Amino acid sequence: MSDEQIILDAVDKFLAKDVKPYARDLELADEYPTDIVEKMKALGLFGATIGHQYGGLGLSAATYAKIVERVSAVWMSVSGIFNSHLIMCAAIEKFAHPSTKETFLPRLATGELRGGIALTEPDCGTDLQAIRTRADRCGDDYLINGTKQWITNAVQGNILAVLVKTDAQAQPRHRGMSLLLVEKSAGYVATKLSKLGYRGVDTAEVVFADVRVPATNLIGERPGRGLQQILAGLALGRINVAARGVGVARAALEASLEYAKVRTTFGQPIGQHQAIQIKLADMATKVEAGRLLTQNAAQAYDRGGRCDMEAGMAKLFATEAAMHNANEALRIHGAYGYSPDNEVERYYRDAPLLVVGEGTNELQRIIIARQLLERGEV
Ligand SMILES: Cc1cc2nc3c(=O)[nH]c(=O)nc-3n(C[C@H](O)[C@H](O)[C@H](O)COP(=O)(O)OP(=O)(O)OC[C@H]3O[C@@H](n4cnc5c(N)ncnc54)[C@H](O)[C@@H]3O)c2cc1C
Repeated sequence: MSDEQIILDAVDKFLAKDVKPYARDLELADEYPTDIVEKMKALGLFGATIGHQYGGLGLSAATYAKIVERVSAVWMSVSGIFNSHLIMCAAIEKFAHPSTKETFLPRLATGELRGGIALTEPDCGTDLQAIRTRADRCGDDYLINGTKQWITNAVQGNILAVLVKTDAQAQPRHRGMSLLLVEKSAGYVATKLSKLGYRGVDTAEVVFADVRVPATNLIGERPGRGLQQILAGLALGRINVAARGVGVARAALEASLEYAKVRTTFGQPIGQHQAIQIKLADMATKVEAGRLLTQNAAQAYDRGGRCDMEAGMAKLFATEAAMHNANEALRIHGAYGYSPDNEVERYYRDAPLLVVGEGTNELQRIIIARQLLERGEV
């Protein structure tokens, strides 16, 4: 058996035993899955893509995407607990000073430190160069002031990679933007937000009021590179959101297939009606295509170099597939799909996040088109 298969089997066992039986109740109660997080630590998921030298599993993006698909097919919120954490870790591992890597990566790999990325603000998400959170140099420290919005893991986690302005006057604006690692400390106040879906995992408003962090927490040798650093990390983020899309789309298909065999109308299972068969065929084709695009993007990421077009295509297609399949699953289940007693109701509430998070699908189309024009080939 390959190393990859051993890991995937361990993930499947964990999902069947420790996640599936509890997902529905925790999600409906919007309760943080503390026991599940402890099991994830033991499995090494918080270090999935972190290199061996820092105590991580050192998995390829291709294997990681397969894990994310599996987790999201059972409960998408659980994938959010380690996905945004690993985007932060990718930015540290790629760009931070060696001593910063030594300080943080081993504790991030075990899950002792857990967190995510804080980019979005109340007044801007897509247009990140418009952020207003500032970090002012004060001796050997930075003082951070500002507000971030919709930040996953900001309440239950203990560290964030925060996109800040270190030079508000810089032109172009991205030259004044930096990425700073901020551990929870005085002046950091996170307030959990309520959401349509993706419950259980915390998403918060975070106010930074004179939060002091050592200047050594800056990612990179000097300020002014934050936007490029986080955009590089977001390629992995988009691959994992694509994988989440495949997971939700697959779960919606599997539930629909089961239901189509047992629900009868007009004397036969609804799966025998061509109108339902057409839905199932389209749903299955979208899962397969989404998975192939996601693996294609993950392999491009693993080869190194630029992969924003591949990641954008995968994210766009697979997340629209999740929206489509969740909607079709609801229709196939008739009234029963409209009840929280049925998992397809959750897929219907979870899927819309995927077309917004890690860059909206409108933005993905812009990225794909720009790359097409720049590369001059498909
Ligand atoms: C549950 C949840 C969790 C999240 N977790 C995080 C997190 O951990 N960290 C984090 O930093 N953020 C997080 N976000 C925020 C998310 O990344 C942003 O919502 C997203 O980037 C979009 O930004 P916005 O909501 O401000 O929309 P806006 O940027 O205001 O966009 C509004 C609309 O305009 C469209 N639009 C914008 N610009 C253009 C353009 N140039 N051309 C065409 N259309 C355009 C958008 O596609 C969208 O349809 C989370 C959001 C949610 C809902």
